[in-house]
Parts: sequence; C-alpha cells; structure tokens
Amino acid sequence: MEIKAQVYYSGAQGASPIIMAVVTSLDITDRKRSAQDLDRLTQELVRSNTELDQFASIVSHDLQEPLRGMSGMLRILKRDYQDRLDPQGLEIIDLAVDSSVRMKQQIEGLLAYSRVKSHGHPFELTDSSAIIEMVLASLNLQVQENQAVIHVDHLPQIMADPIQLAQVFQNLISNAIKFCKSIPPEIHISASQDNHFWQFAVKDNGIGIEPQHFERIFIIFRRLHTQDEYPGNGIGLSICQRIITRHGGRIWVESTPGLGSTFFFTIPIPEPQ
Ligand code: ADP
Repeated sequence: MEIKAQVYYSGAQGASPIIMAVVTSLDITDRKRSAQDLDRLTQELVRSNTELDQFASIVSHDLQEPLRGMSGMLRILKRDYQDRLDPQGLEIIDLAVDSSVRMKQQIEGLLAYSRVKSHGHPFELTDSSAIIEMVLASLNLQVQENQAVIHVDHLPQIMADPIQLAQVFQNLISNAIKFCKSIPPEIHISASQDNHFWQFAVKDNGIGIEPQHFERIFIIFRRLHTQDEYPGNGIGLSICQRIITRHGGRIWVESTPGLGSTFFFTIPIPEPQ
C-alpha cells in the first residue's frame, strides 16, 4: 500500500518512482527489524527475569538446610560446652547464634520475595476496608504497645490478590508504627481515584526519610538504620514493590524528615466490560 502511494507522488513531481519505492521499502524493513529487535529484547528480559526468580528461589530454599545444621550445632555447642568456655567464648557463640537467626530471616525474606510472582493468587474483587480490618487485628499487639492511633477512611473495592494486598498494608502500617519517635504514632489510611487507578496512601507522623533515600529503601536488604535503632531485615518494602508491580501499579514515598512519611501505591481500575 505504502509503495503505491509513493509511486503516485513521485510521478507527479517528475522524480524516479523506483527510487521512492526503494526508500519506502527500506523504511518498512527498518521498522520491521526494530520491532523484531524489540520483541527479541522483551523475550530475553522476560526469560532472564524468570531465571533470576528461579535462581533466588532455589538458592534461598537450598541454603535453609545447611543453615539449620549450623544453628543446631551452635546450640549443641552452647548447651554441652558452656561449662568449659570462658565468658568471651560464650559471647562469641551468642553472636554466632544471632547472626544465624538474622541469616535465616534474610533467606526466608528472599524466598518470599522470589515467590511474589510464582505463588500469587488470581486477582478478585476485594474489599480493601475488610483487608485493613484483618490487618489491624493481626497488628493489634504492636498497635496497643505503641498506643498507635489509626484513622481509616472509606476504602474502595478493587481487583487484587487479597493476600498480597494484606501483605502490603501490613508492611506499611507496621513500618509506620515502628519508625516513630517517642510520641504515639498517628496513622491515616486513605484512597482516592486518579484517572484509571485507585491511589492509596498510608501517612504517618514518624521520623521521616531524607529525599536521597526515597528510591533506595525499596531495594531488597537496604536499610537506613542499625538493628539496635530499629529492628528489621530490609525486605518489607521490596516485597510491597513487587506485589504492586504484579498488580500493574506503582509505589513510592513522600516525606519530610522529622515530620513523617506518606507511602502511596496505585492499583488499576479495570475497564468496564
Ligand atoms: P525494615 O522495616 O525491615 O527495615 P523495609 O523494607 O520495610 O525494611 O524498609 C526499608 C527501610 O525504609 C527501613 O529500614 C527504614 O529505614 C525505611 N522506612 C520504611 N518505612 C518507613 C517509615 N514509615 N518511616 C521512616 N522510614 C521508613
């Protein structure tokens, strides 16, 4: 079709129709080639992502076994030899046990991270208010201990994997309580419609985050504090990001250090059938 049009045009201008036809066909070939290149690159990316997921899953699964053995040996060492060890020897064993517990948590986190896509459930109509109720019930102890005050607006029904949506809220609310100064944490959960997306917000009055860390905190194992300051393993937000990406949305943070943070995430609203 395109070649025909070019021949007509060049004839009218007195130029060689053949040259025009060659130019057009080169153009089409180029476009075809770049479409094929893009296709190949996309397939390659999907393949390497799948391989990376499988790799993380296999490694984290297989590392659990030797780690269990090592932790068991350390416990036996402490139980059977503590009379023969001086205080420094005992302290070293305690530190080794602590490290193995942390490593176990990190391996479990990596396994959970690698399973977000492969072990997710199908999306279904999900009442996000009911999910929040369930999450708050499971966080009840942390809420009570910290005298946290939580305001929840009316939240919409959305298409989501309910278990993963609960995981996202659980991580965000639990962080909002944890990364708080001495005052009681005050948290506000809301949602608004933004074009074809529901945009959720979890706002706190906690310690806040410096802007240069806004993206970094979503990378697995990245933390801004020591275990003594705030305990954790640096996995929660990376899992939230994977879950939201699986749903076709995005997640980000806005914050003023010292005043608090708001974590936002979006979930697409399906087109009416
Ligand atoms: P963890 O909570 O186990 O450290 P996360 O992946 O949930 O891991 O969070 C990564 C880091 O992001 C935290 O260590 C903390 O520095 C920062 N962060 C997360 N949520 C908040 C929050 N509500 N207020 C301040 N900092 C936060």
